[in-house]
Amino acid sequence: MHSCAHGGVPILNMSVSIEPTATGFDRFGFPETLARGIRSAGFEDPRPIQLETIPAGLDGRDVLGLAQTGTGKTAAFALPILDRILDVPGKGPRFLVLAPTRELATQISDEMRELSKFTRIKVLTIFGGVSMRGQINALRSGPEIIVGCPGRVLDLINQKVLRLNAVETLVLDEADHMFDMGFLPDIRRILKALPEDRQNLLFSATMPKEIRHLADNLLYEPHVVELADKAPASTIDHALYHIGESRKRALLDHVLENDNCDSAIVFTRTKHRARQLAKGLTQAGHRAVALQGNMSQSQRDKAMAGFRKRQYDILVATDIAARGIDVTGVSHVINYDVPNTAEAYTHRIGRTGRSEREGVACTFVTAADRDWIRATERMIGSKIKCKTVEGFESDPNDVAPPKTGGGGRGRGSRSSGNSRGNSNNSNARRGSRRGSRRAS
Ligand code: AMP
Repeated sequence: MHSCAHGGVPILNMSVSIEPTATGFDRFGFPETLARGIRSAGFEDPRPIQLETIPAGLDGRDVLGLAQTGTGKTAAFALPILDRILDVPGKGPRFLVLAPTRELATQISDEMRELSKFTRIKVLTIFGGVSMRGQINALRSGPEIIVGCPGRVLDLINQKVLRLNAVETLVLDEADHMFDMGFLPDIRRILKALPEDRQNLLFSATMPKEIRHLADNLLYEPHVVELADKAPASTIDHALYHIGESRKRALLDHVLENDNCDSAIVFTRTKHRARQLAKGLTQAGHRAVALQGNMSQSQRDKAMAGFRKRQYDILVATDIAARGIDVTGVSHVINYDVPNTAEAYTHRIGRTGRSEREGVACTFVTAADRDWIRATERMIGSKIKCKTVEGFESDPNDVAPPKTGGGGRGRGSRSSGNSRGNSNNSNARRGSRRGSRRAS
């Protein structure tokens, strides 16, 4: 069904009519109100993932997008949805986007609102940690698009205030992250509230077997877009710094002071370390803030907003901020502690070097991190260069305290395959709508 991969990216197999001579976003023939939104967002040319996904999305096809954030995948799924609403108006939840974190859900909603700002389309964001009342009231105004985290979406379904029986398209964003966070059972329950005849778009940076299984069951002859690159973006200059555990803080100060560091995300292994380090940096006169899972929603929102607005130069975070979050102008990612898995490395350092800008990623490694280095280099397919800073040569006996909570630093489970063309798919249904909607 799919043409074979060409340089890692499948060639499009489209039945949609696009303007062959048009350039930029004009080739998709979006209505003028949407085209204005795209221009006002500053988008001139579609990104590769958009070129690949938008025609299939417009055509009503299912899509499996193997892509990291930062590639432009939000607009890739948002634009066909917005186009569809303008094409066939109608109130009530018709499009459901599920995202693993509140931060990502907010970011997706913001981008959808930006792109649709010259239309009357309504986007409602639904997540836990805040009162339900506001969300229930907002539902009465008939938003066409719901962007939410699975837990709260399910709560509202169970309370019978959210009816999803008219959903035309489901988007699962960062599906692998949803699995990591234990959301798959909730997602399966949500699926039961959706009509069978719908379009499904699934995006995931990696394809662990659970997500492959979900994709096999969910997607009907999907158009596979494979942009996920195991290697970090070429715009990121990344290096390992061998250092003793007790010298990490001094090395961090050195990097922050001497490396043209405008704006940094510093990753720690635990919530406690994030909190302590942010406190220490603040006491030392830095504008630093923590972002970790023990904070309340409003504290998390404040931290993210402050970092985006440059009220803070340093965000000290756990892996909660490793994926999906897009803040422009992050000059440095500093892995104060290595992440739990090899894959998480690419996610973390992908917070810099975004939108084709240059970025620097420094990873502090102790003698205890040898296995992690080996696994990570194997996953990305190349050696990571080592840098030494004078006065910070490592002491092999000065290692990290043992990790608590199990789940040792393992080798990546990233799969090299994908789940295209599963003929055993039980969803051999739909079809009435697809293929014909945009054909001229
Ligand atoms: P995402 O992968 O969706 O998080 O997108 C990463 C960033 O790229 C976001 O800040 C988008 O607003 C931006 N972006 C997406 N598409 C384009 C485009 N075609 N041109 C310029 N910027 C874009």
